[in-house]
Amino acid sequence: MATDDKDLFKKIVSHAKEYGFVFPSSEIYDGLQAVYDYGPYGAELKKNLKDLWWQSMTRLNENVVGLDAAIFMHPLTWKASGHVDSFNDPMIDNKDSKKRYRADNLIEDYAQRLEAEGKADQAKAVLTEMNQLLEAEKLGELRELIVRENITCPISGTANWTEVRQFNLMFSTEVGSVAEDASKIYLRPETAQGIFVNFLSVQKTARMKVPFGIAQIGKAFRNEIVARQFIFRMREFEQMEMQFFVRPGTEMQWYEHWRDVRVRWHKALGIPADNLRIHPHEKLAHYANAALDIEFKFPFGFKEIEGIHSRTDYDLKRHQEFSKKKQNYFDNDLNEEGKPYGNYVPYVVETSVGADRLFLMTLCNAYTEETVGEGDQQKERIYLKLHPALAPVKAAIFPLVKKDGLPEKAMSIFNDLRYDFNIIYEEQQTIGKRYTRQDLIGTPFCIAVDYETLENDTVTIRYRDTMEQKRVPISALREEIGREVSVSNIFKNL
Ligand code: ATP
Repeated sequence: MATDDKDLFKKIVSHAKEYGFVFPSSEIYDGLQAVYDYGPYGAELKKNLKDLWWQSMTRLNENVVGLDAAIFMHPLTWKASGHVDSFNDPMIDNKDSKKRYRADNLIEDYAQRLEAEGKADQAKAVLTEMNQLLEAEKLGELRELIVRENITCPISGTANWTEVRQFNLMFSTEVGSVAEDASKIYLRPETAQGIFVNFLSVQKTARMKVPFGIAQIGKAFRNEIVARQFIFRMREFEQMEMQFFVRPGTEMQWYEHWRDVRVRWHKALGIPADNLRIHPHEKLAHYANAALDIEFKFPFGFKEIEGIHSRTDYDLKRHQEFSKKKQNYFDNDLNEEGKPYGNYVPYVVETSVGADRLFLMTLCNAYTEETVGEGDQQKERIYLKLHPALAPVKAAIFPLVKKDGLPEKAMSIFNDLRYDFNIIYEEQQTIGKRYTRQDLIGTPFCIAVDYETLENDTVTIRYRDTMEQKRVPISALREEIGREVSVSNIFKNL
């Protein structure tokens, strides 16, 4: 990361803490690594992002329905899904700094440096070799690759490495109050399996026909080896996943469909096309026949925000095998067409995005520093250029001064609008300071009540991005705000 970008990221992280978006978990005890809490404005922003995802999945697609499955699942679920045996990351320790790394991340970072030095071919060769070794689980040779390329620890600067070992990322706990009867269960590392085990119940009760999808938002837990970069990699996080069940043989066409839909969705949120890219996987997971990441250009480089995976019939078949319950779908439409194969286990195309990474992308994209004013009056301004539909607070109502009936008038406007929008009323400090504070949390409109308001029922409305002010009748406020903050502004760009 270039120094400027490092500084920028530091500023964004401290902005998030200072203005009530994200706090380190249990901070009075010095925090818990890779776990974070969302403050008042962060909680609103995250909820808006989740609602938007939920609505665009379930409302805009008549063949996608929702589900809210439990975090705890029968332990066999994770045996069937392959997580018990192979949800591992290769880890390696540096003996001098005692720091632990993911071996693949060390090599990927090295390849990125090679690429930056114009050695793209060498970078590609290293990555290909790494993928082959990971695929074949040749951990000894993976270590040799690290040593051969002289990849050193960023802290100690040495290549004094331990062996590479596999580390399972699932957290486990025990259910049952009597020690002898207690059995080991896992905290789900992905929400997807809750969808798979409910596939037939959902299909029958919601009377769905293949192709159809099931969407779910929920917590997931991974004991990440290296937790870095703020809320980018957490041990407790939230996923928004949609599994789309299709006829075997049609999965590639749906894979491409959902890839395009999801890229459009990110752009509709206001992410510039240049800051998004698609990264097809070279090394496929055991369950996939095609996979790609949608990446965003964070200040620390292009990194995954969402995965699109063609998961074949792997999961349903494995659950069928372990539960001994048939997972077949009887496709009446196919039988009507006289085709003999109307009874099958569907294939699955998955879209999987992290709510926290989406939040971080939104914050990085919105954080804006600019110089305003001329000559001596020049000053730096920081604001969050959030899409009004996502902004935690939609409008702030200020009386110009705390006397002469202005607070009462402002309060009556606040009381009238509060049922429609998340708005706040503020009367402390100078009006300039109050504007600045709203800029810092990304409030798109500030409404000021002054002496003229008492005469003719008009107020000034100030726009966050341009700082322009306009006089409008109080009676026009609901429409003026409503038009801008409506999620349909995003939906119509999908
Ligand atoms: P990575 O390669 O970054 O570890 P992954 O490929 O393991 O991610 P998936 O299993 O595809 O991730 O999970 C889907 C999405 O869930 C990711 O795109 C990301 O947005 C989110 N996600 C995964 N792991 C984490 C984590 N530790 N913290 C926050 N979000 C996560």
